Formats: sequence, C-alpha cells, structure tokens
Amino acid sequence: MDPKRLIADAKSIVVLTGAGISAESGIPTFRGAGGLWRQFRPEDLATPGAFARDPKLVWEWYDWRRELVAQAQPNAGHKALVAIAAGKEAFTLITQNVDDLHERAGSQNVLHVHGSIFAEPCTRCGHRYSALKEHRCAACGSLTRPGVVWFGEMPPEDVWAMAETAVRNAGLLLVVGTSAQVYPAAGLIDLARASGSKVIEVNPDQTPFSHAVDISERGPAGEVLPRWVEGI
Ligand code: NAD
Ligand code: ZN
Repeated sequence: MDPKRLIADAKSIVVLTGAGISAESGIPTFRGAGGLWRQFRPEDLATPGAFARDPKLVWEWYDWRRELVAQAQPNAGHKALVAIAAGKEAFTLITQNVDDLHERAGSQNVLHVHGSIFAEPCTRCGHRYSALKEHRCAACGSLTRPGVVWFGEMPPEDVWAMAETAVRNAGLLLVVGTSAQVYPAAGLIDLARASGSKVIEVNPDQTPFSHAVDISERGPAGEVLPRWVEGI
C-alpha cells in the first residue's frame, strides 16, 4: 500500500497529531528524549492535584512553555497538512497539542482536544482570559488556571463530540507524532479501525499501535509529510 496514493485518493481525511509534530519546531515532547523541565516530570505537574498543592510552580512551568511556543515557528510537517487539506471533500485536524502552530501554518477549524496553552479560565467564575501575566481574574480576583486538559480531566464535550464524528466518517486517519498513550485521545485510533477506515502512522519510533495500523512510517513528520504532498 502506497501512503501517497492513499492520501491522494481519500475523499475524507482526519488527522490526529501529538507533540511529535511540533518537536522539529523546538517544542519538547513529554515522552522521549529532551522533554524535561528542571527535575519534574510532566505527569507530576499537569494534574489538578499539582495545581491545588502548588499553583505557583505549575504556573511557572506553563509560563515557560508559553514562552517556548511563542518563539517557535511552524515546520514543514504543519505546512504539509495544510496542503493535504486543500481539495478534500472533508478534512478534520484533531490535535492533542496545546500550541498554536497548526493555526499559524494556516490550518483552519483545528479541534484542540486538550485545550490551548494561551487560554486562561478563572478557577472560580469561569471567565476566560488569554495569556495573563498576573494569573488573577479581573472580575472576581480569584486565581486563573491554564486552559488545558490535565491528566485526570476529560476533553471539552463539544470538541470531543466533533472529533468522534469526524473519525467515524473518515476514509483515512493519519496519526502523526503521538505516543498514543493518553486516553481518550488514543481511543480515536481504535474508533477509526472499528469504523473501517484506513490508518497511517508517522513516528520515528514504534508505538503501541504500530502493529495495528495499515502503514507505519518511521521518520520525522517534517520530512515524511512533505514527501507525501509533493505534486498534489
Ligand atoms: P508524547 O510526548 O507522549 O509523544 C510524542 C511522540 O512524538 C513520541 O511517540 C515520539 O516518538 C514522537 N516524535 C518525536 N519526534 C517526532 C517527529 N519529529 N515527528 C513525528 N513524531 C515525533 O505526546 P502526545 O502523544 O501528544 O501526548 C502527550 C500530551 O502531551 C498531550 O496531551 C499534549 O497535550 C501534551 N503536549 C503538547 C505539546 C505541544 O502542544 N506541542 C508538547 C508536549 C506535550
Ligand atoms: Zn473570576
């Protein structure tokens, strides 16, 4: 099976991306090499419990990550997905990433199932802000929190429903740069298979799904994806 042919022929495509697609833009992934911050593991910081215990520490980590994202630029992988979307009857981009590199590359209607690093809702009144410096709500004075989905939390219902519907109706699911260990997002791969869609994975490393997909392409997204859109 030729991935380039599959992509060119598919009428409806869904793409699921993870931290790996932004790795070549210099944003560290959680799993795999180079994903550390001080002596902490993301699993110990990206939780409601960590925020309850030490909001200052958690905010320092998110402020640092916001800075990294703001300085980063979309790479060839993000851009190739914009080219794949062009001319398709149906195209949905679902990302687990909290960065905005897909949007800055030119992708539209991105479904952020894990939220956005620049969103900032108040923990008390729910008022939503964008990237405050002092993490206090102007309306009620309470602490704000990062507008992301933490370990132990569920994706926003409306966004998740759209993601599931898109996957159910897709002829082809392209899974890029995700370790596929975080649920329920990883369950979208099972859903695609159960719905009879073809699945292509792009990742330099093997994942728990590598044996269950139609094509498992080993390589960095920024090199593999542009090859697949040449000439379309
Ligand atoms: P992950 O860190 O668990 O896995 C990253 C995967 O990307 C690994 O399988 C790795 O082999 C692969 N990878 C590394 N370099 C790659 C490249 N150049 N091309 C393609 N693949 C590459 O990330 P995840 O699966 O997205 O899940 C973890 C959680 O991490 C998500 O919930 C997400 O919100 C959060 N996260 C987001 C960002 C971001 O927004 N950029 C960064 C780090 C973590
Ligand atoms: Zn408030």
